[in-house]
Amino acid sequence: MELTDLTARALADGYKAKQFSVPDVISAYLQRIEAENPKLNAYLEVFDDARAAATVAQERIVRGTAHPLTGVPIAVKDNILINGKRVSAASKMLENYTATYDATAIKKLKDAGAVFLGRTNMDEFAMGSSTEHSAFGPTRNPHDTARVPGGSSGGSAAAVAAHLAPIALGSETCGSIRQPASLCGLVGFKPTYGAVSRSGLIAMGSSLDQIGPFARTVADAELVFNTIRGCDPLDGTTLEDYSEGVAKNKKIGVPRSFVNDAQPETKVVFEKKLTELAGKGYDIVDIELPSAPYALPAYYIVMPAEVSTNLARLDGMRYGHHVDGMNLLDEYKKSRAEGFGPETRRRIILGTYILSSGYYDAYYRRATALRSIIAADLARAYETVSYIATPTAPGPAFKIGEKADPVSMYLEDIFSAPANLAGLPSISVPMGTVARDGKDLPVGIQFMTPKRTDATLFSVARDTLGEA
Ligand code: GLN
Repeated sequence: MELTDLTARALADGYKAKQFSVPDVISAYLQRIEAENPKLNAYLEVFDDARAAATVAQERIVRGTAHPLTGVPIAVKDNILINGKRVSAASKMLENYTATYDATAIKKLKDAGAVFLGRTNMDEFAMGSSTEHSAFGPTRNPHDTARVPGGSSGGSAAAVAAHLAPIALGSETCGSIRQPASLCGLVGFKPTYGAVSRSGLIAMGSSLDQIGPFARTVADAELVFNTIRGCDPLDGTTLEDYSEGVAKNKKIGVPRSFVNDAQPETKVVFEKKLTELAGKGYDIVDIELPSAPYALPAYYIVMPAEVSTNLARLDGMRYGHHVDGMNLLDEYKKSRAEGFGPETRRRIILGTYILSSGYYDAYYRRATALRSIIAADLARAYETVSYIATPTAPGPAFKIGEKADPVSMYLEDIFSAPANLAGLPSISVPMGTVARDGKDLPVGIQFMTPKRTDATLFSVARDTLGEA
C-alpha cells in the first residue's frame, strides 16, 4: 500500500506508531500531484510551503500534542481564503487576488495542524455542475478523463478521487459537494446551514452557502466536519454548537415520483442499495414530497438574486480585474465584462432582473414563498421518517462539452436543491456504478435529515458504505 492510499485516520495512526513521518507523506503527495495533475487539472496551485508546514506538524506529533488532523494533507477549493495565498474563485476577476485573512474553517484546520497542499479548480464563483466554467480550463474526472468530475467543487473531488489528497474542502450552494462526490465515487457532506462558518468563503448565495468535506470514508468526512464546525462571531448565521440525538427510527423515506427523474440505470443501482439497507434493518417507505419538483426552479430564482448582490462588490475599483475606461461607468462595464465569464454574467443579469421593481413580486417573492413550502413539506415527512433518500444526481459523469445548454446543466441539481433551500444536512455516499463507453462510472446515494441532525447522517452513511 502506498502512502497516498491511506485515509486521514490511517495517517494519524501511522504517525503515532512512527511508521512514517509527515514529510514522507507530503513528499509522496507532491510527487503524485506533479505526475497526475497536468492531465486532471484538479489543482490550480500547489503551495510551496507545504514541506515547511510538514516539518512543523512532525514536531508537534513528536511532542505528543497532535490533533487527529495534525500532518494530514488537505486540498482547498479556490473560494476559501487562506491568509497570504492567492484565491481566485477560478475567475479572471480575482486571478491576482491574495487573501488577507484566514477563513474560520481554515483557521480551525491550521490550529489542528493540517497541511494545505494547494487550491483546487472549480466553476467560476461556484456556478456550475461540471467545473467547465472555470477561467483556468476544465478539470477531468479520474474515472474517465473525457468526462467531467462534477461541480462546482470538481477540483477538490478529482484531487481526492485520484489520491492527490486524502481529504478536501468544498463548498455548496446547491449540490457542489454532493454531486461531484457522486460523480467521482466519494463521500461528500453538506452540513446543516450555519453549522460551519462562512467567514472567508467567497459568497455565492449567502442564504444557501456552506463549506463541507470530501473524503474516501465517512469517518474522515466526520472528522473534518467536527474540526471546522462551530459558532463564529464572524458569521451571524452560525448556530450555537449542538449535539444531535440519535434517529428516532430506522425509516428511510423515498419520494418515488421525484426519484423518477433519475436515469433508468441510476434508479436500478439506487433500488439495489435500498434493498441492501432493508437487509441491514432499515425500513424503506414511500413518501410524498409534492413541492420537491419546484425546488430547482425556486433555487434558480433565489440564487441568481443573491449572486447579483454578492458580486456587485467586484467592480474593478478596490481590487480585482480592472480595465481603464472613458469614465467611471465605462470602467465598471469593461472591468466586469472582461473579468467575469459567460455563466457568471448570465446569472448576474438574471438576478438583477429578478430583483428589479415590478419583477421582485412576480419572481423573488414567490420563490421565497416556495422555499417555505418546501421546508414545511420536508418537516412533515420527518414526522414519520428519520431519513430521506434519493440518488445524488440523475446520472453518472457526463462528457466534457455534453451539457453546453445551461438548462441541461441546471437539471444536474434537481435532487440537491431541497437540502440547500431548507438548510438541511445532506450526505452523498457511493452506491455503485453505471457503465458508459465500457467504463464503470460511480453514482452516489444521498440522504437528508432534519436540521442539526448531522450525526445521524453519518451513521446511515456508514451503514450504506459498510464502514465500521
Ligand atoms: N450546480 C449549482 C449551480 O450551478 C452549484 C452551486 C453550488 O453548489 N455552488 O448553481
